[in-house]
Amino acid sequence: MNPTQPYAVPFNRPYMTGNELTYIAQAHALGNLAGDGPFTARCQQWLKTQTGSGQALLTHSCTAALEMAALLLDLRPGDEVIMPSYTFVSTANAFALRGATPVFVDIRRDTLNLDEMLVEQAITPKTRAIVVVHYAGVSCEMDTLLAIATAHGLKVVEDAAQGVLSRYKGRELGAVGDIGAYSFHETKNVISGEGGALLVNRDELAQQAEIIREKGTDRSRFFRGEVDKYTWQSIGSSFLPSELTAAFLWAQLEQAESLTRRRLALWDTYHASLVELENRGLIRRPVIPADCEHNGHMYYVLLAPDIDRGAVLQHLKSAGVHAVFHYVPLHSAPAGLQIGRAAAILPVTDALSAQLIRLPMWIGLTAEQQAYIVATLTEGVSIARK
Ligand SMILES: *Cc1c(COP(=O)(O)O)cnc(C)c1O
Repeated sequence: MNPTQPYAVPFNRPYMTGNELTYIAQAHALGNLAGDGPFTARCQQWLKTQTGSGQALLTHSCTAALEMAALLLDLRPGDEVIMPSYTFVSTANAFALRGATPVFVDIRRDTLNLDEMLVEQAITPKTRAIVVVHYAGVSCEMDTLLAIATAHGLKVVEDAAQGVLSRYKGRELGAVGDIGAYSFHETKNVISGEGGALLVNRDELAQQAEIIREKGTDRSRFFRGEVDKYTWQSIGSSFLPSELTAAFLWAQLEQAESLTRRRLALWDTYHASLVELENRGLIRRPVIPADCEHNGHMYYVLLAPDIDRGAVLQHLKSAGVHAVFHYVPLHSAPAGLQIGRAAAILPVTDALSAQLIRLPMWIGLTAEQQAYIVATLTEGVSIARK
């Protein structure tokens, strides 16, 4: 094996559109390198137009956007926030930083998203918000979740890290709830190395969001000439990316539609090629509900319970294919046990997280490579039956 490229077929390969360095050179020539320059403005305008959100603010990560959401909702120690356990740590960590308690609810078997039917029974007098995670860029059942939130006076935050350019009933993910968070990490669909955005979908939160992002000051209003000096207004931090990052991101956003189409084509190829394994009862393929248009972010399979996942991954690895499992549930992780609380037992989370494999997914993957991955997976599941 070549140590710098140990896999013939890597799990991820960041895709560059070709314009990234041109735009970075423009930012360099302009000499405007800190945040909130012309590239940031362009990216934010694109996000607003694309999503219909009232406000889009670039951040240095989705983690930062989620931390901003927790500050914006003014969460405090004792408050509870409902969320899935099957998610990335930042979903919970951002709220735990404010002293709030993550309350973990089980996921649906079909989409692996928060099970909306279990949310109401997890609500207590301390509940303040529901954080939904659109796993693999497939939307949660938002109408039901929004109705529950309204009935109980809760805010809805969308961790749409994987959901850029996905839709629920025609609406862009991230712009459906009160606040949305995107990721432009190099493993996502649209990238800037590290990067993210906060979508603020309630006008009454917009001014405070700018303050939180600018170290707790009204510097954004000062730059627009709305105040004659800027001062410390509330707690905040530095959440904005530099113009170099925004310049890179602009090259990606310009081509976001075509990047999404190309990923969807790869996704469709996997999906068609894996019908037979599903028919034989060896795997289950992803389910896309009728109300959801996804973005091809991820292709995963759920192995039948009698198949040894470690052996399948090892088989793929020895054939040069880098496939990976995904989240270790938060409710049973050391920090989850200490800081969070499971609302009930989470049997679906425990079972499905242990049987899931993500297949290589990146623009540039060839039809031959996909056929090889499917053939290798097919061999793997046959020899890994317990
Ligand atoms: C990637 C991801 C994040 C974190 O995104 P960063 O930009 O790396 O901070 C958070 N939540 C989910 C669901 C993710 O997939």
